[in-house]
Amino acid sequence: MSATVATTCPYCGVGCGVLAQVAVDGAVSVQGDVAHGSNHGRLCVKGAALGETVDLQGRLLHPKLRAEDGSFRRASWDEALDRVADGFRRIVDQHGPDAVALYVSGQLLTEDYYVANKLAKGYLGTANIDTNSRLCMSSAVAGHKRAFGEDVVPGCYEDLDQAELIVLVGSNTAWCHPVLFQRMVRAQENGARLVVIDPRFTATCESADLHLPVKPGTDVWLFNGLLSFLFQHGVMDVGFVDTHTDGLNATLATAAAEAGDYATVARICGVQLSDLLAFYRLFARHERVVSLFSQGVNQSSSGTDKVNSIINCHLLTGRIGRPGMGPFSITGQPNAMGGREVGGLANMLAAHMELHDPVHRDIVQSFWSSPHMAAQPGLKAVALFDAVLEGRVKALWIMGTNPVVSLPDADRARRALNACELVVCTDVIEHTDTNRHAHVLLPALAWGEKDGTVTSSERRLSRQRPFLPVPGEARADWRIICDVAQRLGFAEGFGFQSPHEIFIEHARLTAFRNHPPGNGDLPASPRQLNLSGLTSLTRQAYDSMRPVQWPVREDGSGTARLFAGGQFAHPDGRARFVATSGRAPANATDREYPLVLNTGRVRDHWHTMTRTGKSPRLAGHTSEPYVDMHPHDALRSGVRAGELASVHSRWGSMVARVRHGGGVLAGTVFVPIHWNDQFASDARVGGLVNPVVDPVSGEPEFKHTPVRVEPFPVR
Ligand code: SF4
Repeated sequence: MSATVATTCPYCGVGCGVLAQVAVDGAVSVQGDVAHGSNHGRLCVKGAALGETVDLQGRLLHPKLRAEDGSFRRASWDEALDRVADGFRRIVDQHGPDAVALYVSGQLLTEDYYVANKLAKGYLGTANIDTNSRLCMSSAVAGHKRAFGEDVVPGCYEDLDQAELIVLVGSNTAWCHPVLFQRMVRAQENGARLVVIDPRFTATCESADLHLPVKPGTDVWLFNGLLSFLFQHGVMDVGFVDTHTDGLNATLATAAAEAGDYATVARICGVQLSDLLAFYRLFARHERVVSLFSQGVNQSSSGTDKVNSIINCHLLTGRIGRPGMGPFSITGQPNAMGGREVGGLANMLAAHMELHDPVHRDIVQSFWSSPHMAAQPGLKAVALFDAVLEGRVKALWIMGTNPVVSLPDADRARRALNACELVVCTDVIEHTDTNRHAHVLLPALAWGEKDGTVTSSERRLSRQRPFLPVPGEARADWRIICDVAQRLGFAEGFGFQSPHEIFIEHARLTAFRNHPPGNGDLPASPRQLNLSGLTSLTRQAYDSMRPVQWPVREDGSGTARLFAGGQFAHPDGRARFVATSGRAPANATDREYPLVLNTGRVRDHWHTMTRTGKSPRLAGHTSEPYVDMHPHDALRSGVRAGELASVHSRWGSMVARVRHGGGVLAGTVFVPIHWNDQFASDARVGGLVNPVVDPVSGEPEFKHTPVRVEPFPVR
């Protein structure tokens, strides 16, 4: 057996610590890390099966170039990197920096994310770099910034142990964040109550003390009603509101206009009035309330308003920054949070600075000494692929993600790649629905081989460490990006020799942001994201770094909770209530498309199954794509459980096996996101999903697309 290596699970945003060992025959065994604060030794079924997913079958092991006839041939690294650099240089020279773009992933490590953003925003001079995290949590980011002045999750997992009431909104936590859910169940055993707000009766709902099966898209009405209820019943922290917040009166007026009558709220939300009031009373009675929310809130054309409607209730009651309470966004991917820290979204800069702010742009540019700073926010994911299709973006470098499967209106994404002059894909897997459109394929290191940091949903930085040999010619993502940057003439900014050097630069930028030399006016509102205590880590200290929650103080200690003192990141230090009005989802059902499509994960698979598909025990849980239907809808649609059916929307079609159950409401269907053309033909649910996005965050409306279901083949 090899020495035990402490690393972090590469799946969900819980960020569990994993201990990995390699046997002499190469078999990998894993167990939970008891010393890791995120999981205390627990792993879910996906994490426990990690050892079954690390073989080299299907791996991309060498750089490849596509020939005219569509076939790929092996190339040297030099040839492949030259092709990328020459292509990017030519297109920037001819069409300007915004004609090139990068589309990256929450699977990247923070160090990879950092250099990708540095290259695009500081050196190429374009902010056209967005991430697949746009698809899962950007509404939470936007809501945090509106309320707190910064993208900050105030609480920590320990709050679940101390809560009296846990409210889960739009989250099947039992399947999607299982280790966190185990913690909630234990809290229930110790007396906490659990309310689940979800249109579906999911595995999570089986443990709920109260389940509110709200109509899809009605969350803002529900929480506006709660805000009015709390205010009317005097459940308010007057001192906190007066001293630390702004905007209550306008927000109350908006909420009251919609929610003065609880019977109306119950009708709009499609729940029993008695259940609605039971939830409101539970929230009112318990001081220690944690409200967790996830994709069911974020993936909506009004996702940001939904987030703020939840946060408003915590600001009114002052239930934030103290043990056992607070609004809590749980992220889907292992490093969605780390990506945000280094400016991983097209509208952000590193260290939680903003692209639209010229002062922030100056700070970053002076820190980097960079030649071409992006002048304005870039294109968000859906708009970015639209720009590719329209020919405004002519070169696209995709890293560690499969947008032909995962984007809404995914066939449009495929057409965009077909139309693009230069498509570069860095990936671990050779054959994906996206990679077949690449002109250049670059092999990346996978989990178990790569080295760097990730940040979990509770702001906990944690190391991913290598314990497997480098396969073939694969390289770390950060190394590939630096190799291209150097060929573009940016040797000075990209001379990094290790992830440690990149991490130190990232940490120093967070400290520099709060104390930029020569700018006495800053910071009016210091960023909570501050890694001051990590700026001098030696290579050895980085290698042995224990998980720690930012902000990290000078003495290296972390911070479990934020805003305890009521000091927020807006310039005046006060949080903002945000007035939110309920809005129906963008596309309504009609006679042609009478059912609402909801999408999400299953328990044992991850994203497009490139890893979990390798494990027989994970694949055994759900072996094929399915559509969950209410029996009445199945009857009306002429389909039966166990048969194949076609699911159609205005944007595309897919084939799936009909199941009854899955807890769906009448009038709605549910299809999992994982399957793609690698596993079954016509199985990409992304092809059906409408491409409407939230106007603030740019996050797509994955939870509400009108569809119809028909027998397959048509009888
Ligand atoms: Fe991995 Fe998430 Fe499971 Fe933890 S809960 S083991 S991070 S998939």
